[in-house]
Amino acid sequence: MTICIHGIKAQIKALQANHPTWTFKVEYTDLTWEEVINGEHQGHSASVAPTNLVQAGSSSYSGLWICEICGKQKYDSGSWYCASKEAIEYMMDPRNSLNDTDLFQFMQLSGFEDFNNDNVRNTLRSMAANYSVIDGECIEAVIQAANTYHVDPYYIMAKILEEQSATSPLYTGSGITDSKGNVLYAGYYNLFNIGATATTGKSYDVILNGLAYAASQNWNSKTTSILGGVSVIASGYISKDQDTLYYQKFDVVGDSSKYEHQYQQNILGAQTAGTLLRKLYKKFDSNLGGNYSFIIPLYKNMPVAACPRPATNQEHTQSSGIKMGDVNQDGQVNVIDIVMLINYLNGNAELDSNGIAAAKVCGNSSITVVDVVLLINYLNGDAVLQNSGVISATVINSCKVRLIPNGVEFKSLSEGASIKVLRQSVSLVNNVYWDLVVSSGGVYGYIPRNNYQ
Ligand SMILES: [Zn+2]
Repeated sequence: MTICIHGIKAQIKALQANHPTWTFKVEYTDLTWEEVINGEHQGHSASVAPTNLVQAGSSSYSGLWICEICGKQKYDSGSWYCASKEAIEYMMDPRNSLNDTDLFQFMQLSGFEDFNNDNVRNTLRSMAANYSVIDGECIEAVIQAANTYHVDPYYIMAKILEEQSATSPLYTGSGITDSKGNVLYAGYYNLFNIGATATTGKSYDVILNGLAYAASQNWNSKTTSILGGVSVIASGYISKDQDTLYYQKFDVVGDSSKYEHQYQQNILGAQTAGTLLRKLYKKFDSNLGGNYSFIIPLYKNMPVAACPRPATNQEHTQSSGIKMGDVNQDGQVNVIDIVMLINYLNGNAELDSNGIAAAKVCGNSSITVVDVVLLINYLNGDAVLQNSGVISATVINSCKVRLIPNGVEFKSLSEGASIKVLRQSVSLVNNVYWDLVVSSGGVYGYIPRNNYQ
């Protein structure tokens, strides 16, 4: 199989021309793009929690940023939505981040030992005016942790700035007050938000869990929290090949199972921390003329062009209530829709945005003859369409859910599990129709059609 590196080499060359001291390593992950995206598009259920989240209520991350399966179901603290496949594609495609602004999410974090304590101290002190999180204790603890664990001090501070606000109980040590008025976990700190997650949709539980974790580690000062947190990050991520911010967010390297060991769910996590890291470096090295190393991941079978930014002025059909296949928008799916679709493909008919959404019956980003075939099969009773009414099914033979048809094993579904059939296959792979499903537990992937009814 060939590895496509459409455009990536040219982008790296352009960056190198402007920054001759920077080093780039292209890392061939040996993973297929579709498998990676589906591997990251998991957990569409409150009990499991999505792998990737977008901030709810943000106009910049609305529309097609929001998951086509979960819609506006709220997760974690209650202010997050599950991220769409398009959002994952956009954020994971390295071509969208090979620019001066977004590059530092690829900066190599391991092997960093060569720093001067006074330089770091002065740089961080000069940043304190802009970030109330940075105080004297934080600065000294960051320097101590960087020396102890051989981790880049600017990276440590960028993570704290990304995770904390100066008013969070995880930063102030104020503890949290329960419904009976008792203050719990006062005097404990968790500046990296380690363990601060919840499946209840309540921010109270997120903070409670983070403070409980801090208490279990006896992080009774900012200093112990920073030293303990950096120890976790150094042994749990950096030494396990997850030694860029990108790899800490998107688990595509290392020997262990993929797509599970991630630092945070926020899909912007790597980008945001990378921007902060660059800002800290720029304060210290205004031309960014140091010897910085970047690791750029590559995947097999990437699209020819960089994945586009998800539109915010469009909604997924799942949440907008458009009936799949109803190309002419008359409320019914019938042979007239097939005629309309063929005319559209021939350039003889126009479709409005709802018609275009309804015509993408295969769920791909473009409309092709495959959509016509699927629509014909649907009308013949040989296929199911998303949002057409027939989407719930039960697993009758326990089976593996795979990230690509006939791909390597991913997760198991047991007999009796309930699933939604998102898309039925119209072609055989290895003599099997692999249909795209999502289980009630949020597992997303392909299973053979004879395993459910
Ligand atoms: Zn989802």
